[in-house]
Amino acid sequence: MSRPVRVRFAPSPTGHLHVGSARTALFNWLFARHEGGAFVLRIEDTDLARSTVESERAVLDDLAWLGLAWDEGPDVGGAYGPYRQSERLEIYREHAERLLAEGKTFRCYCTDEELEEKRRLALTDGRIPQYDGACRGLSAAAEAALSSEGRRPTVRAHRPTRDVAVDDLVRGRVEFAREMLGDFIILRSDGRPTYNFAVVVDDALMEISHVVRAEEHLPNTMRQLLLYEALGLEPPSFAHVSLIVDKDRSKLSKRRGASSVAEFREQGFLSEALLNYLALLGWSHPDAKEIMSRDELVRAFDLARVSSSPAAFDEDKLAWINAHHIREEPIGRVAELARPYFEAEGVCEPDGERFEAIVDLVREGLERLSEIPYAAGFFFTDDPEVEDDARPWLESETGEAVLKGLLSTLEAEEGVLDQASVKRALKAVGEELGARGKDLYMPVRAALTGRIHGPSLALVAALLGRDRVLARLSRAAARR
Ligand code: GLU
Repeated sequence: MSRPVRVRFAPSPTGHLHVGSARTALFNWLFARHEGGAFVLRIEDTDLARSTVESERAVLDDLAWLGLAWDEGPDVGGAYGPYRQSERLEIYREHAERLLAEGKTFRCYCTDEELEEKRRLALTDGRIPQYDGACRGLSAAAEAALSSEGRRPTVRAHRPTRDVAVDDLVRGRVEFAREMLGDFIILRSDGRPTYNFAVVVDDALMEISHVVRAEEHLPNTMRQLLLYEALGLEPPSFAHVSLIVDKDRSKLSKRRGASSVAEFREQGFLSEALLNYLALLGWSHPDAKEIMSRDELVRAFDLARVSSSPAAFDEDKLAWINAHHIREEPIGRVAELARPYFEAEGVCEPDGERFEAIVDLVREGLERLSEIPYAAGFFFTDDPEVEDDARPWLESETGEAVLKGLLSTLEAEEGVLDQASVKRALKAVGEELGARGKDLYMPVRAALTGRIHGPSLALVAALLGRDRVLARLSRAAARR
């Protein structure tokens, strides 16, 4: 029963792409790429009040930014289109008509008020509210009479006559008792399909082989399996992926920091890093490898290694993975990604090579690209601000002597100031003054950068260049 692998990601365009949805998209994409199958993007926009074109655009942009290219979708087309549910209403109607004609569904003329009243009564009697089958088996004449009252019917599928079960690829066998479900609506009175009906018609017609989606959709699977049966169509395999929770095990919420792909992008997470981290939320490499490229993920991904326990979102770990990718990506790419953060601060370094060298120097200690204007800030100002903890090093007597000594040593040197000449000069000054370690380096670091932490001093000095180094040393030496 092996069919070609076709999976889909089916977002509802009602906001930004949340990391949980991005993880669902990623698992589908990895599975498709690993199996050489197709990754389909379908927009579930039948909720007209909440779906927006802007959100669809944002979701597509975020997926593209993550590098999760789709083979079929609303913008690229494909043989199974249209790929927006709002453009498939006629298809749902036809299938509903067929089910009606075959007696597998029926029209229900109950009004919302009537249903609400019955629901209230059931609750008062301590019964689980369920549709009571009032319109099941209506004669044509009765239907005509109700219709002439101006009632517009919904279409309902018959409740199950036996229990339903699914062998979920992540959760194992899941059983649904027949009592859980009454006759359920597949078409609303305005002719729009319910989520469960639209999904089944689409997944079937789009020949989706595997439905990989969030655990919260598991209860829908019962209705969906019944609809496959009614339609006489073969259901796909199902894989329900666990929830993503906060570190304290509560549902990942918007209140606690970033939760959308766009927010992480703005904070300077690389798409490789976010992708790498999301893959580890519920899946693990057989050798427990944690840092992986896109290609390695595709090679290693396997639904059999997706866990059925909730995955805890740990932003520290994401930052650790991001730091790794910031260090390892080609420097040209990192510099390019870092540029907008400088531009936003009004800092623009026109010299490409020097800019790259600066980014390369400071990227070592970064967890987010948004930290880079601060990390490299002292390169782009004539008079770096001296931070509080750096001040004592400039104000001490030894500090002043070191700065003056270094200034005169460097002034006496001919030619360009490079790493070697800086090291030579520092050594000479240290020997002359009997200053070593922090006593020697800290005043110089404080003078050149205004800080007590940072990358290699000789590299910093070489990148600042002779003029800036001399100006900073003399200004700092004169401070006391
Ligand atoms: N549109 C649904 C959602 O955004 C996805 C449905 C599904 O994957 O079956 O949650």
